[in-house]
Amino acid sequence: MSVLERIAQQAELRRTFAIISHPDAGKTTLTEKLLLFGGAIQLAGTVKGRKASRHATSDWMALEQQRGISITTSVMQFPYNGKVVNLLDTPGHEDFSEDTYRTLTAVDSALMVIDAAKGVETRTIKLMEVCRLRDTPIITFVNKLDREGRPPLELLDEVEKVLNLKCTPITWPLGMGRDFKGVYHLLEDRFYLYSGDKHRVSEIETIDGLRAPGLAERFGDVYQTLLDEIDLVQMAGDGFNLDDYRAAKLTPVFFGAAINNFGVRELLNGFTDWAPSPLPRIAEFNGVEREVYPQHGKFTGFVFKIQANMDPKHRDRVAFLRVCSGVYRKGMSLHSVRLDGPVRVNSALTFMAADREAVEEAYPGDIIGLHNHGAIAIGDSLSEGENLRFTGIPSFAPDLFRRVILKDPLKAKQLNKGLDQLCEEGATQVYRPITNNDVVLGAVGTLQFDVVQYRLQDEYSVASAFEPVTVHCARWVVCSDPKKLKDFVDKNELRIAKDHYGELVYLASSAVNLAMAKERFPDIQFLDTRTHV
Ligand code: GDP
Repeated sequence: MSVLERIAQQAELRRTFAIISHPDAGKTTLTEKLLLFGGAIQLAGTVKGRKASRHATSDWMALEQQRGISITTSVMQFPYNGKVVNLLDTPGHEDFSEDTYRTLTAVDSALMVIDAAKGVETRTIKLMEVCRLRDTPIITFVNKLDREGRPPLELLDEVEKVLNLKCTPITWPLGMGRDFKGVYHLLEDRFYLYSGDKHRVSEIETIDGLRAPGLAERFGDVYQTLLDEIDLVQMAGDGFNLDDYRAAKLTPVFFGAAINNFGVRELLNGFTDWAPSPLPRIAEFNGVEREVYPQHGKFTGFVFKIQANMDPKHRDRVAFLRVCSGVYRKGMSLHSVRLDGPVRVNSALTFMAADREAVEEAYPGDIIGLHNHGAIAIGDSLSEGENLRFTGIPSFAPDLFRRVILKDPLKAKQLNKGLDQLCEEGATQVYRPITNNDVVLGAVGTLQFDVVQYRLQDEYSVASAFEPVTVHCARWVVCSDPKKLKDFVDKNELRIAKDHYGELVYLASSAVNLAMAKERFPDIQFLDTRTHV
């Protein structure tokens, strides 16, 4: 087999995705169960347990320990159903940050987890908006059916209305809560029965046929309800259509109880059968945009996340790169398109849950971690020498803002240096108002501010405090007519700032203020995402 054939074959097997959900919907639990079914962890093992038992096996783990964060669980790879699955963790809870958003630019599809009692929640809505930027296909898992939740039809209706995504149920619950008996698989015409056993992974009772004899006697009312609901579902929809799923026009929906391993295997089967393999990515080459296909013979990729070591003795950072084309081989030399020169990496790491060290090659869809001393920034494209620059790795307008107070005015230079570096890592966004010397930080999660404050002190010896500022949101402002843009800036200079890259930003004081600015200046575009250059 030629190298090109091998790349094409390996790319075709990859399924690279992330889970989107609101905190507590069950993302961690589901991740653990996916790894369990993928054979990556032992029965009853937990993601946390796996981390602990592998500590001290490599320097990598030491780094992880120092920071008290998990780098290895950032990317999990396991084989399933003849495919190679790459699951990218999206930081949740209080670590919620721009990384969460940007990770979604590195996947080819996403899995949305919804709590059956709570339905569509705020974080999910936000993450869906990011998925929509690239029309990322979504598979939905409605979790916690072992508890009393909302009626399934109502939940699907909410997904359709709130997220504007058509639902096609693949499985349907037979009862719920104390009466939860299992699910019916609409495509297989088969019941999977629920035993409530946490440890059951393989054998599970199934019954073929929606109207198999004896079901009414065995399950009573919940069976009749299911028949009625299936009727409604079949009347309302056209069934599953792979092209529509891939075009992000519909989401196949599975029901289950992740905590009891239930419904997860069916989900994983559907996912590996339908989710897209690595898609072409848009890159700029000599000023012209073109698509780079995974089968392109030369290695290319882009950096979507940087994780810094907090130990000041090692200024090491790990850049997470998504391979877009070609093959990465350990030790190969890498070209930075931004710097137009080689980048040195101290070591590279590929992620294979079974045996990390043994992996020597990474293919399109895979993620590699590159250890470096700051030569790599978020959004960077790396290649074998070609100046292919991937576009569309966006910055996201933050929701939270603070003004930086410098405790020692003589440290202004260090402060700016530190903030610029932290900004390049994606730890925060920095805005400098054009009419004064303030520095305003933006973030999507409050923990980001704590990290910035800590690292300014720790790595740059700058003591700082952050105080509230009357900024409701930040919007990049652009206009095709430079005169109109200048007029807008002149008339609003108190609310205009420049971001780290020198781009103009409007810092609105309130939602009403933003709405009024839009109304008064209809030719100005107010953007909530901006592509890195
Ligand atoms: P995350 O915040 O989305 O990662 O959610 P977790 O996986 O940590 O789950 C949040 C809580 O919901 C935990 O207490 C889990 O044990 C519980 N949970 C997760 N899946 C299920 C489920 O299928 N049924 C029930 N009853 N609880 C669940």
